[in-house]
Amino acid sequence: MSNELEELYQDLILDHFKNPRCSECVHNPSSSSHLFNPLCGDQINLGLKVENDIVEKIGYKANGCSISQAAASMMAEICQGKSAQEVQRMCTLFMQLMKGEKKPEDCQDLGDALALEGVRKFSARIKCAALAWEAMQKCLDDARSLDSKQL
Ligand code: ZN
Repeated sequence: MSNELEELYQDLILDHFKNPRCSECVHNPSSSSHLFNPLCGDQINLGLKVENDIVEKIGYKANGCSISQAAASMMAEICQGKSAQEVQRMCTLFMQLMKGEKKPEDCQDLGDALALEGVRKFSARIKCAALAWEAMQKCLDDARSLDSKQL
């Protein structure tokens, strides 16, 4: 990766850390999750409002390192307003990126969250970057099981 690109990525992470998007809790969320990363001490409380299969609103409270907080902001920004199916696709894509199964150029849909690809060099921090996405995956899974119970 070129130095310029690396700097751009660092700026993006810093920007999301300092100016988090969607960092207000959602009242009466359709589904919510709480995840903790014992490796680093990061925590996230994530809540979603889902209506007509659209993730209308995302809110979270994140504590921990700058990577985990920036990742939460990036995840929320990219996923808010998308269909549940599309959000699922984003989660899968992000995990594939982190595992090295997909190249960054094939993951442009992830927007700012692409900047987290640089974290892969520091294996101990991958969990920091993935925590918010794992929380989203859990919310989606819960929402689905709720749906099937109602049927
Ligand atoms: Zn962390």
